[in-house]
Amino acid sequence: MNNAGVLRASRALIHLDYLQENISLVRKKTGTKICMPVKADAYGHGAIHIAKAALLSGVEYLAVATVLEGKELRDGGILSPIMLLSIVLPEEIDALIAADLEPMVCDSEYIENLEKSAAKAGKKVPVHLKIDTGMGRIGCTSEEAVSLAVTIAKSKNLYLAGTATHLAVSDSPDKDDIVYTNNQTELFSAAVENIKKAGIDPGIVHAANTGGVTFHNHSWFDMVRPGILLYGYSPQDQEGKAALAVKPLMELQSAIVFIKNVKKGQSVSYGRTWTAEENTLIGTIPLGYGDGLSRLLSNNWQIALGAENRTVVNQNEGKLPGKPLFLVGRICMDQCMVNLGRESTAQRWDPVTIFGGLAPHAGIMALKLNTIPYEITCNINKRVPRVYT
Ligand SMILES: *Cc1c(COP(=O)(O)O)cnc(C)c1O
Repeated sequence: MNNAGVLRASRALIHLDYLQENISLVRKKTGTKICMPVKADAYGHGAIHIAKAALLSGVEYLAVATVLEGKELRDGGILSPIMLLSIVLPEEIDALIAADLEPMVCDSEYIENLEKSAAKAGKKVPVHLKIDTGMGRIGCTSEEAVSLAVTIAKSKNLYLAGTATHLAVSDSPDKDDIVYTNNQTELFSAAVENIKKAGIDPGIVHAANTGGVTFHNHSWFDMVRPGILLYGYSPQDQEGKAALAVKPLMELQSAIVFIKNVKKGQSVSYGRTWTAEENTLIGTIPLGYGDGLSRLLSNNWQIALGAENRTVVNQNEGKLPGKPLFLVGRICMDQCMVNLGRESTAQRWDPVTIFGGLAPHAGIMALKLNTIPYEITCNINKRVPRVYT
């Protein structure tokens, strides 16, 4: 990507080579078609770049959450099937059809609206019937599935491209959750069988998210839809270890742009939440909550000195790369501070890694913040340029 000259110190390095490896790992495991969710700007990684790389690696389907996300992909030249996972307003349906998206449907009013717009556009629109087997979000009941499938099969301008459900606790290794997921897939299989018995082709049958791919081979059917797994974060097994050896795509990097001496007893940043216990060197990093770095990491995260693919100014720093350093004081909107230690030979302009690469990855940061890696990568916002390798 040609960011030269406008590329700031803070940037997210995205490893497209790891994406390729993660995709082949999933392909080897399931042997099914793969749909890659690229909603929310590909979980913060950049939808167009991720979509193109995923398709080059042989992914058959993409999935988005809004019509605009789908349109962005089409405008970016992407021709593959794109599934629309969320329900949209009636007034968005013409645009949905114009962008050749494949909506999830689960009720007759929505199907009717689609049928009318499809007729107006003179298109035969592929739809996926979504059955709620226990997620409690969108979907018809398994009893309603056959009659909706019949409605779709009979309609002139729609056809059933797929039948789907979504799993609520598939990423959990707990016994009760495994039973719950088994019930979901059994209910789903039965509904699909009933559709077939009614003489209707259910199309591509798909259910498995990341947890389904990782722990439930009976949920794989014709196609899997793993998101976070392909971005490089695996569910944990019973021992708390990553169940699959995927590699995190995102590395958040920055640099030390200012270094100063701080004497014992002096404080750093708003609210004076950190005071030096001894004379030390403090570095300032141009990255803050305005970039999506959670303020809850104030005095609560270790970054690494050094960064992959970046030149270290001081080649003599014996402990480079990857020496861990504490963020100290409150994280500000645009800046944060790091304690380099009294003896540090870190130099101004030296790169640092906030998460991923030489530092702990976004999944570890998520544990610290009581959240999930999805939120960490999604929150890194557009002020942080993405650099692709
Ligand atoms: C987001 C989403 C996925 C992917 O979920 P992960 O937990 O990231 O694997 C799959 N299916 C649907 C319907 C989704 O909304």
